[in-house]
This record gives sequence, structure tokens and C-alpha cells, in this order.
Amino acid sequence: MPIDINSDDSLLRSCSAYINGAFITSTDKNLSVLDPATGETLLELPTFGAGEATAAVQAASDALERPVPATERHRWLEAIASAHTKFREQLAEIITLENGKPIAEARGEVDYAAAFYREAAFRISELEPRTLTRTPQSHIWTTHLRPAGVAALITPWNFPLAMLAKKVSGALAAGAPIVVKPAELTPLSAIALFHILDTLGLPKGTANLVFGDAPAIGRVFCEHPAVRVISFTGSTAVGKLLSAQAAPYVKRMALELGGNAPFIVFEDADLENAADQLMKNKFRCAGQTCVCTNRVYIQSSVADRFVELLTRRMQDIKVGPGMDPKTQLGPLIGKAGFSKVHELVSDALNHGAEAVLGRGAPPPPGDGPMFYPPTLLDNVTPDMRCVKEEIFGPVIPLVRFESEEEVVIAANATEYGLAAYLFSADKQRCDRVLSRLRFGHVAVNSGAGPTPEAPFGGMKQSGIGREGGIEGILEFTEQQTVATPL
Ligand code: ADP
Repeated sequence: MPIDINSDDSLLRSCSAYINGAFITSTDKNLSVLDPATGETLLELPTFGAGEATAAVQAASDALERPVPATERHRWLEAIASAHTKFREQLAEIITLENGKPIAEARGEVDYAAAFYREAAFRISELEPRTLTRTPQSHIWTTHLRPAGVAALITPWNFPLAMLAKKVSGALAAGAPIVVKPAELTPLSAIALFHILDTLGLPKGTANLVFGDAPAIGRVFCEHPAVRVISFTGSTAVGKLLSAQAAPYVKRMALELGGNAPFIVFEDADLENAADQLMKNKFRCAGQTCVCTNRVYIQSSVADRFVELLTRRMQDIKVGPGMDPKTQLGPLIGKAGFSKVHELVSDALNHGAEAVLGRGAPPPPGDGPMFYPPTLLDNVTPDMRCVKEEIFGPVIPLVRFESEEEVVIAANATEYGLAAYLFSADKQRCDRVLSRLRFGHVAVNSGAGPTPEAPFGGMKQSGIGREGGIEGILEFTEQQTVATPL
């Protein structure tokens, strides 16, 4: 389906970088944005690098010199949320076309994104200065929350609009000017957001957008002295690289990296509920989210029954292009991701796993559609790659376990610590297991992912810092304590 970029209300009227309050004119067209459902080009875009990134940081740095009152920031956030509602259908189509996810999921993503702006607006009043009730050293002590500086925001392709919302809402609420770099696979949602921002009367330089040469842009973010916070969501490898590049400049890093979410089902759990929750959790964005279940631990006594329940549900999943309203599972984002899923499934099958559903490992396609069938693997063992690495595809590996002690150790046996899911009817057991799980987000008898109202983030190598709630705003603030004599 072609994208209409010429209508007056198109959010893609100018498909370019946005620096110092204007879209950049450029005749270069070096970046092809592909539709993963067809492999065809949706749009050709210009690309940008270190020069534009430096100009964007400079514009943001100039904006920082003119602090904006909280009332005005509150107005921006409410206006952005309202614009998400007004342009809901257009934003959802853009997400589906560039990312591939089913249109109903994309609409949910627009609503989820809007909720981050509303939440940040609601929380702004919590940024008021706080004065100590005591007066040590005969002084009054007041702590102000100042914007930390220019915030560089790097986002991935799996939630092209919502990942922006998590970061942009927190930074703007804190009063920190932003430079955004979206994933080159899905830059259109970010461009659409900047068309919205462009209408809101933000002071020039408050919000800037660049994309193209990711390593060159990333280096500017790490080395430019005006950038004080780098908020990154993406792979652990790139997160480590950015941390290393920024280390000599002592910057705050807010990192949301990979996950390897265990989904633990004890024999006393409501198995029907566990199967339903797994369906909702696992296949979102074709299994390509960092909180998607990566490995399922099922207690041996109920494993055969659980396989039956999953098979019944999975065989009905409708795979197809996201724009078809009947589609429940869209394509993977691209060839590299497809090949990785193929490798992990092949590895499991070669080492003795059984493909209950999914016909084994389909070979990677050429440049065409990226559809991967829903796959259920039984008799998976802890040494297989699909247990140790992030799959990022519609594959459920089932590992059978005997005891509580065994499964807690297995769940924690990863360098990641983002999300985990726990199913048991025994409250005391849940509390016991919860207290030992080293994961930043745990849902009990539910497959729920994060929500804008609560802090979300990882333990261990899944990251540093939190998004959502007041914590997601505090990431972009710096405390300034002021002492005045009594
Ligand atoms: P994935 O493998 O899921 O695509 P990446 O970590 O490669 O995850 O990408 C997440 C984001 O990081 C994207 O916006 C991408 O362009 C960006 N990115 C990739 N490499 C670098 C880099 N060297 N410096 C800065 N950003 C990068």
C-alpha cells in the first residue's frame, strides 16, 4: 500500500531531519524504508551524519539556555497526547507499514504512546522544589530538579512510536531539550511525531531529529559536551559500545537493553490462563519485543497438558500482512532477524528438540516478505541457543522442570534481567520465587508488560535506569541543592 505523503494532513509531508525548528531540505535519497510484509520500498529518505547531529545538539544546547516553565511543558505534553488521538489512524498505518505489526496492535501502540505523554503531564507537579523541614548549619536547604542538559534519545524499530514516547515525554517534562535518533529501519513514525511537534510552538531547538549514519551520530552524542543524558533502547552490544564511548565524558546513561524473559508455570497454576497469557505476551510484534517471553519453563507433571493447550491456540493464529485486519501475526522486521530465528530453531532441532508446530526452520527468504510461522518447540534443554539468546521471533521453546529450586536457578542463569512471568496458585510460593528473581519487571499469573504509570527497566545487563512513572522523568533531571542563611 503506498503512503500518501502529499495530502495536507499527511504527517510525512517533509521526510527529513528536523533541526532548530525546521525540516532540513535535502535532495539526497540514500535510505530506503522497506515494507517487511512485501520487501518493497515504501519511501526513499535522505540520510544525515555527524554534521547534522552536531548542529542538532547545538540547537538543543541553545534552547537549554531559555528554561521553559512547567505550565508550558505541561501544555506541550497534553497537546502531543491529543494529537496522537487525532491522528490515531494515520500513525497506526505508518507503524504497520514500516514495522509490519498487525494494525490493531499498531493502534494499541499509538494509545500506549499517548498515555506516556499524559502520564508525564500528570507527574510534572512532582518536580516542585523540596525544602528541608530542618535547618542544618542555620541555613534553609532547598533542592531543585533542573533539566540535566541536552538529552540524546536513540530508539529501536519494534515500537517505532512508543519507544519515542517513553523518552520524549520524560525529557520534555523535565525541561531537557532533545535530539532524537530513531532506527533507520523505521524512521517514519519519528518523522510523523516531529510533524506533530512542529505545530505546537515549541521554542526552536527544543526538539530535533536526525537519522542516517547511526555510528557517526552516536559518536557525536557520546562526545559532545552539551549532551548530558544518553537514553538508548536497543541491543546490549550497542548499549555497551555507547557506554564505552561516553565513559571519558562522564555522562548519564539510561539504557534499556536486551532481555531473555522466562515464563514459569508451576503444576498448581491455572493452565488455561497461563496459555492465554502466553499467547498475548509471546506473539506481540511477532515476538520481537524485549519483554516477550523467550523461554517457557513448565513443571513436568503438567507439561503434556500445556503442550496441548498451546497447540490448540497456536494452530489458529492467522499470519499475514499487518494491514489486513484479520492478521494476528505479521512479518519479522528483516532478513537479519529472520536468519537469527532460523539459526536458533535449527540449533534446537539439531540438538534433540521437537517441533510440535511450525514445520521446523524455514529457510531465510531473499528480499521478499518476512513471514515466520508460529513455532512450538518441546523437549528444549538449557544448553540450546534459544534458551540462552534472545530469539526475537514467534517461537516458544518449552523446557520441562521438576522443582522450584531448579527453576529459579535456571530462570536467573542469564546475564539479562528485564522481564519474567510467574504462574502458580500458591501465594507463598509466588512471594518466595519473586524475592529471588533478578528481573526488573515481573508479572504474576499474568503476561502483562510495562505501563506508563509505573517504572520499567532492567537489572543486570538488561540496562540502567527506568522509564515510565516519575522515575522516567527523573532520568532527565539533575538535583541542585541551594543553601541560604536563615
Ligand atoms: P537491533 O539489533 O534491534 O536493530 P540496535 O542496537 O542495532 O538494535 O539498534 C537500536 C538503535 O541503535 C537504532 O536506532 C540503531 O540505529 C542504533 N545504533 C546502532 N548502532 C549504533 C551506534 N554505533 N551508535 C549509535 N546508535 C546505534
